[in-house]
Amino acid sequence: MATVHREGKTDLLSGKVTVVGYGSQGHAHALNLRDSGVDVQVGLRAGSSSWGTAEEAGLAVNTIPAAVSGAQVVAMLLPDQVQPRVFDNEIAPNLEAGAAVLFAHGFNVHYGRIAPEPGHDVIMVAPKGPGHVVRRLYEQGLGTPALVAVAQDASGRGLDLALAYGAALGAGRAGMIETTFAEETETDLFGEQTVLCGGVTELVRSGFETLVEAGYQPEIAYYECLHELKLIVDLMWEGGLSHMRFSISDTAEYGDYTRGPVVIDEHVRERMRHVLGEIQDGTFAREWIAEMDAGEGKLEELRRSAADQLLEQVGRELRALMQTEAPEAHGVR
Ligand code: NAD
Ligand code: MG
Repeated sequence: MATVHREGKTDLLSGKVTVVGYGSQGHAHALNLRDSGVDVQVGLRAGSSSWGTAEEAGLAVNTIPAAVSGAQVVAMLLPDQVQPRVFDNEIAPNLEAGAAVLFAHGFNVHYGRIAPEPGHDVIMVAPKGPGHVVRRLYEQGLGTPALVAVAQDASGRGLDLALAYGAALGAGRAGMIETTFAEETETDLFGEQTVLCGGVTELVRSGFETLVEAGYQPEIAYYECLHELKLIVDLMWEGGLSHMRFSISDTAEYGDYTRGPVVIDEHVRERMRHVLGEIQDGTFAREWIAEMDAGEGKLEELRRSAADQLLEQVGRELRALMQTEAPEAHGVR
């Protein structure tokens, strides 16, 4: 079983903690740590649109080099794509001797894109939720669970420091699970590729297109294969698979047990193992890093063609009728 921590020695965070970036995770970390009594500073690009927002929230804001200077912990909360460049140019040259570098995801360290000098602790506190949830639950006196790890333990107290940061973030209230940078990175990529994002989107699209191809109305297919998914997922989230199955009809439950494994069969598991292999041997990371270095043109093209699918066109019309359409979901980003 995993080692789960509920507490951290927050008084270990006696110095300045610099949160670099004020996006989804950055704003939540800066505000939660501040409210937990930590001396927080936010590091941003000169001219960043977040500068004013962070100051209005009562936070001290500085340029990245100035905020990094003198900090005990530097939290890397920039988008993963930009972290290596910003780290090499603006963070590494200004790190205090012995300062810790903290990540919320292991990708850059695990695949060798960021390698702090040996004198620095390299630690991780990866909340298992988006930033607005990390902030909202903290304000409610609750917490978002987090994974904690140590990649480089210069001080010998890397884990304690990660737990202290996690506790100040509120993660101790929900549990902080010990892991490694490798395990966090590989399972995160696997989950999003085969189940949460890639798996679910292709399952939905395949079901929708199978019904439409067989002559059923696209609107009906949309409700059956996409819209109702939320009700099922909410039940699974609340109480696992049995709780979901308790709430559906016996007909649905019988079809679930007998037909689910016909679709998601050994062949799918074999493909999952293949995708996992490409994560473990670095094939996926090399491909994605090359795409980032080339300006992400292929990603842009994939995004555009996915938005043109019939499933998406039908969905836009139906969500407008139900008034559940998020305004920012219109059009192509
Ligand atoms: P984000 O996309 O919300 O952006 C972070 C901020 O970085 C921006 O708001 C901006 O202040 C700054 N920024 C953007 N481009 C920049 C540039 N070129 N130079 C300097 N600053 C720039 O990022 P995020 O989603 O909060 O991700 C931060 C880290 O947290 C990543 O390592 C990510 O993997 C991890 N993480 C994210 C989530 C999530 O749900 N969003 C969950 C767990 C872990
Ligand atoms: Mg994830």
